[in-house]
Amino acid sequence: MMLALAGYPLGLSFAFLDPAHDAAAGQVGELVTGSYCDHARLAELADRSDLITFEFESVPDSSAAALASRTEVFPPPKALAVAQDRLLEKRLFQELGIPAAAYAEVGGPEDFQPAWASLGRPARLKSRRLGYDGHGQAVVAAAEQLEGAWLEVGRVPCILEEEVPFERELSIIGVRSGSGEIGFYPLAENHHQAAVLRLSLAPAPEVSGRLEQDARGISQAIMEKLDYRGVLAVELFQVGASLLANEIAPRVHNSGHWTQDAAVTSQFENHLRAGLGWPLGNSESTGPCAMVNLLSTIPDQSRLLAIPGARLHLYGKAPRPLRKLGHVNVASPDPGAVTASVERVGAVLGVDLPKPRFKGSYWPR
Ligand code: AMP
Repeated sequence: MMLALAGYPLGLSFAFLDPAHDAAAGQVGELVTGSYCDHARLAELADRSDLITFEFESVPDSSAAALASRTEVFPPPKALAVAQDRLLEKRLFQELGIPAAAYAEVGGPEDFQPAWASLGRPARLKSRRLGYDGHGQAVVAAAEQLEGAWLEVGRVPCILEEEVPFERELSIIGVRSGSGEIGFYPLAENHHQAAVLRLSLAPAPEVSGRLEQDARGISQAIMEKLDYRGVLAVELFQVGASLLANEIAPRVHNSGHWTQDAAVTSQFENHLRAGLGWPLGNSESTGPCAMVNLLSTIPDQSRLLAIPGARLHLYGKAPRPLRKLGHVNVASPDPGAVTASVERVGAVLGVDLPKPRFKGSYWPR
């Protein structure tokens, strides 16, 4: 839906494929209802489209590849294949010399002891596939807990990953067009509640030029290696002055929703420009911004709209526990005003939100 809303002013038109009859995108364009594995529906979509993208990471990469044989698809299906498998992701980081948490492969119980011995410290067992928002992972403090953790994640192929004592979680959103033109948004700082993203701050406070450059280097190396087209998010852990790559998301990303109201060009517009081979838009931020996800229930809209600098984005989805139903972007040139407004958003939602540490005067980045 948000891609289409960004694309209509550029003269584009849209159709969507989604398994749900009430998919949010159906509000803004023609909706083909069907499974992402239904090849008849995929063919229907391909026949009516010049260009296809996806914004859901669990679309089978085989479906993306099937579409790519009939029409143009971006980002490249191989990026989807890597993002869907934590082991392939780790191998990509290793190949590119990108720092990441140490890990060992766990195909089954026979690997428990060797994997634990190779790490020798508290770790997380993560399923290789279909892990998101904290699903498919279990913390393991001692070797004896591996058995239980493996049952918990569903007895599937896993990686065992060292527990990282990170200071904070950051993400970098990069964009690359077919011509190789590259752009980056400033780092965002991300805060989770119950393993779901609740708040993103952008530009992330207290970021040195070196940290920003390191993040861009990581993003660029991945985009170039994958011959990437579109927006790519890389989730990062900051440990001291260093960054470790956690995972990649080959799509417009929740931690980039702030760009709708506080960047010269939003991630949605730039994703489309990149896919179409058009010049990329300026990805600089226009001032400090906090993005707050609306989870589980839709709060009183008029109370949110009364908050200075607040812009409301609702997705038209039915409420469900921990479901992302929309977000609020709070932007202002004055960092103190953003902090005050975030506190008011928290009061409306009835949750304690972390206090943004935006400081001093702001200059464009
Ligand atoms: P993921 O699905 O890998 O993004 O993990 C979900 C969340 O779990 C992350 O946003 C972190 O807060 C936390 N997490 C994941 N991996 C680790 C790790 N190796 N060490 C510490 N925390 C982690």
